[in-house]
Amino acid sequence: MFLRILLLWASCFSLAAHANPDSTTVAYTKPKNIILMIGDGMGLTQVSAAIVSTATPLAFERFKHIGFIKTRSGNKLITDSAAGATAFACGVKTYNGAIGVGLDTLPKETIMETAKKKGLSTGLLVTCTITHATPACFYAHVKTRADDESIASDLLKADVDIFVGGGQPYFEQRKDGRNLMREFDKIGYTITTSLDALIQSDAKKLGMIYPDTNLPSMLKGRGDYLPKAVEPVISRLSDNKKGFFLMIEGSQIDWGGHANNSDYIITEVLDFDKAIAKVLDFAEKDGNTLVVVTADHETGGYAIDAEDKNPNQLKGIFSTGHHTGTLVPVYAFGPGAELFQGIYDNTDIYKKMMELMGW
Ligand code: MG
Ligand code: ZN
Repeated sequence: MFLRILLLWASCFSLAAHANPDSTTVAYTKPKNIILMIGDGMGLTQVSAAIVSTATPLAFERFKHIGFIKTRSGNKLITDSAAGATAFACGVKTYNGAIGVGLDTLPKETIMETAKKKGLSTGLLVTCTITHATPACFYAHVKTRADDESIASDLLKADVDIFVGGGQPYFEQRKDGRNLMREFDKIGYTITTSLDALIQSDAKKLGMIYPDTNLPSMLKGRGDYLPKAVEPVISRLSDNKKGFFLMIEGSQIDWGGHANNSDYIITEVLDFDKAIAKVLDFAEKDGNTLVVVTADHETGGYAIDAEDKNPNQLKGIFSTGHHTGTLVPVYAFGPGAELFQGIYDNTDIYKKMMELMGW
């Protein structure tokens, strides 16, 4: 009898929790932390190629809440990474090349800036320059993505708690003669040039800027840099009781697509997947962290076809060296993950995150 009452009670409870997920009256649990992971140029074939080329299941296969986004920008059917990331960061459709500004070229507040205002900590971890279009859209407001030096100066003002990426020349060998490394020092940052130094540092404000323009690709020996950086970055951000917003980018999946190089794509997706595994391990234990993994667009018009006989050595075929307009997948985990199911606009990623945080 007691068991029957318990079961009845439990089924009522689960019904109430899952009733009519499309209704706007459903209250989703509020996450404390958000980790947004962007695979640049990572369409469904990029993920598929990594999955079929590997014998063991990938971290991608751990997600239960999956959706698709429409990627077009404010002025083109085919977006670039700047307009794509501005959609995620600011919730607006803008022109290709725009960094954190709208079609009117005026600055739009980013979700990272809102998080900061609300007392959360913020972080960025990428496998390209920290001034590259995708990370830039979360902290900078610049009319064109080509203006790396202005983007770098915006990072100085953004109060990001921890950032990891490349691009030292834009901080030190600038046309305006400023040395941003020294300026970071003056405002209390410790800037390292290696991941090991970053991991060992106990500074409150911390950055790693790889001593070159870009980080190497996986094919050229980047090693475990990205998955290795995940834990130390999260552990620092977790010190804040109010929570954190972290953006992690698998930046070079896109470059493999532009190069029409299947090995480049697959090694980059597998590396990104290792970072996803670390993030999910944390989120599962934490219970208050929303994880959203998506892409800004697909690159290469990549497909796996009948010519590919050996899944361990996929060659793939490509229809272009540029981006394409196909829908790209969204994978979500944690409080509010149900909200990311379905087919919707890239700007809705921003809107859903903001709604869940109550901002
Ligand atoms: Mg990018
Ligand atoms: Zn690209």
